[in-house]
Amino acid sequence: MTAGTGATAGDERPSTGPGGPAVIETVDPRTLRPTGTVPVADEAAVRAAVDRARAAAARWRALPFADRRDHLLAVRDALLDRAGELVAVITAETGKLAPEAVVAELVTTCETIELYARRGERALRPERARVGLAAHKRARRTWEPLGVVGVISPWNYPFVLAMTPVVTAAFAGNAVVLKPSEVTPRVGLAIGELFRSAAGGAHPDLVQVVTGDGSTGAALVRAGVQKIVFTGSVATGRKVMAAAAETLTPVLLELGGKDPMIVCDDADLDRAAAGAVWGAFSNAGQTCISVERVYVDGAVHDAFVERVVDRARRVRQGVGPGHDIGSMTFPPQLDVVERHVADAVARGARVLVGGKRLDREGLWYPPTVLVDVDHSMAIMREETFGPVLPIMRVAGDDEAVRLANETPYGLSASVWTRDADRAHRLAAALESGSVCVNDCLTSYGVPDLPFGGVKESGIGRIHGPEGLRELSHAKSVLEDRFGLSREPYWYPLPRGLDRAGLALLRLRYGRGWRRRLGLARRRGSPRPPGRGR
Ligand code: NAD
Repeated sequence: MTAGTGATAGDERPSTGPGGPAVIETVDPRTLRPTGTVPVADEAAVRAAVDRARAAAARWRALPFADRRDHLLAVRDALLDRAGELVAVITAETGKLAPEAVVAELVTTCETIELYARRGERALRPERARVGLAAHKRARRTWEPLGVVGVISPWNYPFVLAMTPVVTAAFAGNAVVLKPSEVTPRVGLAIGELFRSAAGGAHPDLVQVVTGDGSTGAALVRAGVQKIVFTGSVATGRKVMAAAAETLTPVLLELGGKDPMIVCDDADLDRAAAGAVWGAFSNAGQTCISVERVYVDGAVHDAFVERVVDRARRVRQGVGPGHDIGSMTFPPQLDVVERHVADAVARGARVLVGGKRLDREGLWYPPTVLVDVDHSMAIMREETFGPVLPIMRVAGDDEAVRLANETPYGLSASVWTRDADRAHRLAAALESGSVCVNDCLTSYGVPDLPFGGVKESGIGRIHGPEGLRELSHAKSVLEDRFGLSREPYWYPLPRGLDRAGLALLRLRYGRGWRRRLGLARRRGSPRPPGRGR
């Protein structure tokens, strides 16, 4: 696939400085060898992309749902035809393994397209609204496209976390300008190419891709788009929201997490241990909904830890087939992992597995299991975003829930128990956007479920009918039914309108016949207006 033909790399006009055009140098995280450069789109290039998208949006929004659906299915056909190339780009830019790219990124994207192709129209179809007293009217709500949606995406799942908002925005009738992470820009360019080439290039400007760093993202926030969908860290999310406030641009924020896993005393420990190891180490722990901390009932703590250690030691890390996880992706993230582990150990944690970066070229940190951890340690409070599983002993469900909620984050969580009622009770008590029961991570792979965070983990929802409606605006349409020459409450106001109105109020809303007939009166209260005058 030719990256860079997008509206974008070709059309970007990188700012020139003393050293020439601004570019980003990318590296393969598995070796830290440079892989090339991509341009940094400046303000003018971003605005040009938004202008092209706006023109495309005007044509796109006028199309019936069937045409939008056909185009997205053609995009999916292109994805399937080029799956091998896509996996190669994703693995080279992130260091993840091909199976992780296929399962988490391509499958979930195809499922999202399937969902919206089958059920998207239902979520956006006009709906009748109740008219209440205005029985002589007809009312409905419609879901209208916003115009141009700006999508700013991260590096950890560079394909699916860009494709999800892009596909959703497009199905809802919007055009898109995508700013992929500077760590994984070629994945973003590949997405631009999929949309541009699909269906023989029928909608070449529908999805524009602008490569660049934070400055390009900031330019997109200022560019006059109708909504920003931002996926990334809490710190950057704050900046995006503050900047968007200047132009009152709405934002949908998908931010970080510190997801707790609660293991009850009746849990299936083999399944819970296997789930913890997978949930913590998938994608080298760089998953916004990865298992970041475990609270396990004291009664089963040792048996759980024993099983986790056994499984964690058998996780195979490396490049290519025969491995379970790859490298980390972003150099500063490995520094965070080292800092958190060192801080925990200095405060009394014990390392049972891993705990030291691997002595080989590239961003390699091994699966690591810590015990004797507590909330004085950064590893239990701050997002680690690496292959580390800290396990804490708790006295029971109440303490587990209290500690799980003792965080500014609220993205996802998991509960492990054989008792369904207990699971639902715990799920209800957890402050998070989603909860998995006897499972983890998988909720994002079910695109009919709304996804997003509470507290500092985000604002708004992607996926599900909620996601489509987030990228639309609800329009109210009220119609007169009978065509009378005037309404009884238009000018000139008829005499006695207030008395008639109050009588109607009582009749319609009064509880009990005395109130309906205007006979109910609180002792000492003035006579109701309109009576006895
Ligand atoms: P990040 O916040 O550093 O960057 C995200 C994107 O924002 C990048 O494209 C970056 O170039 C851009 N950006 C940087 N400064 C900007 C600015 N001032 N204005 C506009 N855009 C700007 O995040 P990251 O390191 O790429 O991703 C990791 C973080 O993302 C983690 O915290 C993770 O939990 C979170 N995340 C959340 C979800 C979710 O769905 N909730 C999913 C994946 C990752």
